[in-house]
Amino acid sequence: MALDPLTMLTISTALAAAAALYLAVEWRSIREASLLCWSAGFATITVGSTLALLRSGGYLLIGIWFANGLLVVAHWLFLLGVARFTRQRLSGGWYLIVPAWLGLLWLPDDALWSKVMLMSNSLLVALVTLRASFLLRPHGKSLSIGAVQLRYVLLIHGLFYVAKALTAVVPGTLIDLAALRGEIIQVSLVEGAMAIMLIALSMTGTERHRRETQIARLAAQDPLTGLYNRRALEVQAPRLLDGVSSARPGALLLIDIDHFKLVNDLYGHVAGDRLLVTLSDLIRAVLPEGALAARLGGDEFVILTGDASHERVMALGSELRERFHAAATQDFATPQAVTLSIGAKIFDHPPASLAALIEQGDSALYASKRGGRNSLQVADHS
Ligand code: GH3
Ligand code: MG
Repeated sequence: MALDPLTMLTISTALAAAAALYLAVEWRSIREASLLCWSAGFATITVGSTLALLRSGGYLLIGIWFANGLLVVAHWLFLLGVARFTRQRLSGGWYLIVPAWLGLLWLPDDALWSKVMLMSNSLLVALVTLRASFLLRPHGKSLSIGAVQLRYVLLIHGLFYVAKALTAVVPGTLIDLAALRGEIIQVSLVEGAMAIMLIALSMTGTERHRRETQIARLAAQDPLTGLYNRRALEVQAPRLLDGVSSARPGALLLIDIDHFKLVNDLYGHVAGDRLLVTLSDLIRAVLPEGALAARLGGDEFVILTGDASHERVMALGSELRERFHAAATQDFATPQAVTLSIGAKIFDHPPASLAALIEQGDSALYASKRGGRNSLQVADHS
């Protein structure tokens, strides 16, 4: 089958319809507004390229002005979707695209009509597409791979439309929109089909990647305190433990609230939750740089640091105990003091496993509880 303009246009119509459907299905499972905008954009291209087929039957107003205008609207919907994705607002000026499109109706119907129409449409498409690419630039934090891909696909697509607009002013180029004749139109139809596929794939990748990152973050977090959970600590710990040596010892601090049940029993479970959050905030506040903190479960927390000494561990434990004691006595009056017991283990070579390390911290913690609570015990070297 020869790739004549009508065949290319038909292929583009089918691809755009498939992309619209695919993004709509994605939206049903992910429910992100950007996917709906992008799906609507491709649906608009489907209608536009179907109507474009009418130009060969002589319906120039619908087949060229209206169909090409829908192409501008479609790119504007892409821009709207990107604005939603990046949580940015589009200024009102971007709605002037519509009067600009209507203004094309008053173009003088002379020999230059095809060229001026192609140039104006191309510039409008380029403008909104480059704006969308610009919105996807990194804002302080780095973008996901999907978003970077979408940014560059839109940039290349937008620049292609700038080049397309410029070719219209080169003397001697043949552009006949009514008959779909001229190299620019041929090249543009091929680029259009490729752009539909690349843009649609990048769009789904963009949202999926963000979703997966969110799911991974939720799976690694303790829902109450936002600290790592045990599983996430197991994943993160090796890179810290492997760097431990006699020149740079590591330490594990196992922390358990004393008489925490009293808070639950006397003030309710919600108050107990609040105290757990208070402790997690204190842990974050005193956490040494590069150290890890996690909630292992219940009222048990852990700090893992890769740059420790006996003095630093004692200072860290004391600060945490004092600040917690002050916060707990301020909020809760209990028959027995609600304080912290800490079991610490300092090590100068990578341990056999995180579990083995926690077990040693646990013995020291038990010693602290047995010794009357509200203290820090360091496990010996044996
Ligand atoms: P000890 O001084 O020996 O540590 O005793 P304790 O009262 O602190 O109790 P223990 O550490 O043995 O048990 C922890 C309690 O924490 C048991 C459970 O009722 C309570 N708990 C566990 N998870 C949560 C939670 O998510 N929220 C609240 N409010 N309480 C919890
Ligand atoms: Mg406890």
